[in-house]
Amino acid sequence: MSNPRLNYLVLFLISFLFVCCNKSSNTNIMKNEDELIQKALDIHNRVLTLDTHADTPLRMIQPGFDMSKRHDPRESGSKVDYPRMIEGGLDAIFFAAFVAQDIRDDGGHNRAKNLCLQMIDSIVTSTKRNRDLVGLALNPEDAYSLEKEGKRAIYIGIENGYPIGKDLSNVELYFNKGVRYITLVHSSNNDLADSATDPNGSEHGGLSDFGSEVVKEMNRLGIMVDVSHGNDSLFYDAIALSKAPIIASHSNARAVTNHNRNMTDEMLRLMAKNGGVVQLTMLADYLREAPPNEARDSAIVALRTQMKPFVEMTREEQIAARNAFREINEKYPVPDATVEDVVDHIDHIIKIAGIDHVGIGCDFDGGGGIEGVFDASEVMNITIGLVKRGYSEEEIEKIWGGNLIRVFKEVQEVAKKTKALEA
Ligand SMILES: [Zn+2]
Repeated sequence: MSNPRLNYLVLFLISFLFVCCNKSSNTNIMKNEDELIQKALDIHNRVLTLDTHADTPLRMIQPGFDMSKRHDPRESGSKVDYPRMIEGGLDAIFFAAFVAQDIRDDGGHNRAKNLCLQMIDSIVTSTKRNRDLVGLALNPEDAYSLEKEGKRAIYIGIENGYPIGKDLSNVELYFNKGVRYITLVHSSNNDLADSATDPNGSEHGGLSDFGSEVVKEMNRLGIMVDVSHGNDSLFYDAIALSKAPIIASHSNARAVTNHNRNMTDEMLRLMAKNGGVVQLTMLADYLREAPPNEARDSAIVALRTQMKPFVEMTREEQIAARNAFREINEKYPVPDATVEDVVDHIDHIIKIAGIDHVGIGCDFDGGGGIEGVFDASEVMNITIGLVKRGYSEEEIEKIWGGNLIRVFKEVQEVAKKTKALEA
């Protein structure tokens, strides 16, 4: 037997309770979300945040490009300037003087050296011009002392050993100019080493004899050896030869995203043994497998074949090229990589190599930038992602700079010992 009136009352009460509980649990979720974001921002504020890879010098050498002005990333294509570093809470950065691989003869090497020196000079000049905002950093401790002064620390790296040419003395020249890491190779083989992406495959079986001399010279001077962009043999050669821990300034985990530029689990284990560090990068193709899109791929290939290298373009040509890429992106959109993908890679590297061997190297102005971390003003979203995944402040401090600074110190210790032995 049932009483319809009673049934109605029970149903009403259940609905009332459901609506109330749901409302309060939604409010709780929102409150928890706000608290979590605030907690992450506080951590982000307290720890040293260091990005080991930006190709911003490519912009800095352009006439009229002003690092003290805020640029619109979608209009200008620029991803880093000092106002956006401040906005994003990015304390320190390695600006890489990047020289694209070109002809390997004396003329090519000289042109590469001149361009590299021009970029280094533009970094130093920019720090002098903006001394109220930033400072040139040469040693590991500089990042912390500049942070205390409320200034951003600007370190210098070189991406691609091509500007060393065949002259070993260039390594010391660059060191004296402030360079503290060198990426041995870029997208194709050079005289030092093999690239992970050279269409002709391996040339030296990893490091060349000259490349080995360069690594020893970097150890002697206190320059970090960077294996990003190198093929697997180069990684094994460099890690076996280097007396100091090595770095990958912008590389991800191959077990998560299968790409030659990413590192296998075996490499990650060796990195841990070596005491080195893998700096996670914000390049979508290294962060997630994009769904196949043939029409888009052939449109990009067609555009690339009729384009000259970016550095050789006039300003108008660069704008036209960017617009052409934008048109393709609008016509054939691909889902972007997200902060979730970044944290998946960090999780994996920590699972294999441990918390002491992972860091961040966004590759802004070199193709880096994803949904949620599009430019330097959004890097705090990485910290929010880490806090959401349960990482502690101590762990985040290591990821955001502590690990890299530890390696940097050890590299300098090895150099000191080598010099003491020589004396
Ligand atoms: Zn790169």
